[in-house]
Amino acid sequence: MKQISTFGSSSYQVGDLQLLRNADDDSAIARMLANCPIVLLETGEELGDAGRARLYILLRGALSVATDTRTGMADGTVSKILPGESVGEQSVLDEEANLSSITALEQSEVLMIEADLVWQLIDESNILARNLLRLLSFRIRAANAQLRRRQKLGEFYRQLSMIDGLTGLYNRAWLNDLLPTMVTTAHSSNAPLALIMIDLDHFKKFNDTHGHLAGDQALRAAAQVLSGALRPTDFAVRYGGEEMMVLLPQTSDKVAAAVAERLCERMRQASVFADMRQPLPHITASLGVAVLQPQQNEQDLIAAADAALYRAKESGRDRVAAA
Ligand code: GH3
Ligand code: MG
Ligand code: MG
Repeated sequence: MKQISTFGSSSYQVGDLQLLRNADDDSAIARMLANCPIVLLETGEELGDAGRARLYILLRGALSVATDTRTGMADGTVSKILPGESVGEQSVLDEEANLSSITALEQSEVLMIEADLVWQLIDESNILARNLLRLLSFRIRAANAQLRRRQKLGEFYRQLSMIDGLTGLYNRAWLNDLLPTMVTTAHSSNAPLALIMIDLDHFKKFNDTHGHLAGDQALRAAAQVLSGALRPTDFAVRYGGEEMMVLLPQTSDKVAAAVAERLCERMRQASVFADMRQPLPHITASLGVAVLQPQQNEQDLIAAADAALYRAKESGRDRVAAA
């Protein structure tokens, strides 16, 4: 980076500078800018001392500005500056160091204006003050829009990470996140919360007989039985392997047992393959029902449903047992 001239001795005009476009008194401003240095940057060269509060206006070439992550605003964003455009105005206004790194994308000429002089120019020119406000407002909007986009994306990935890929049911991460809250809500509002644990019967044999792909298909069919049979306020979770779980807020033990019976029946009738020419492998499941008791936490509730499920298995499978 080397100084090649000053604004006063160059052929550039005040009208070339976007911030000063339509200024009322070009000649007064030109006089104020006369001693400001113009530096030459070669391609790939960094604008040195970008840490100082200073306004830079690009006269020729192109710059890339990477905003430092510490600014918090448009963190890590890279933007391109074209001739007439400026960078660093915010650092001048709030007297914070300019944390961006500024690199020339091609050979460039840059006008440097020290912070003191920027303030004098603001006092001198209403147009400059207006243009500056407009520019800042634009930059804030852009930064906000970007923030919103990132928030949406973050939310999207968060949701995605809560869904089981094979079945489309909620996964264990979702359960760990939500079940404690559901239990707390149930306790504090004195509303019943029912949990049904579901385990497919002899599923190892199903895989051995029909193959793992058919096993996956059977899991999807079982998941469809669950999501198709529940109310909008209920939740179906893939707890792991061929074990699934249904959460029924505001549901008494009687109703939960009836729901479990219905699920058991529909599992039996579920068709694993839509293709009727195939031999029809079918699935059955065992189900354990538990309703949250006053002293129980979420672990206790799961354990109670698990114990009931074990009894359903013991007494012959393809059936429901209650805690
Ligand atoms: P039980 O009636 O006592 O539950 O017998 P089971 O064979 O179902 O029980 P076990 O827990 O021994 O076997 C579960 C099987 O589920 C073994 C495993 O290969 C299969 N399995 C677990 N996850 C998947 C999966 O994502 N896809 C497929 N195809 N099979 C799975
Ligand atoms: Mg199992
Ligand atoms: Mg099983």
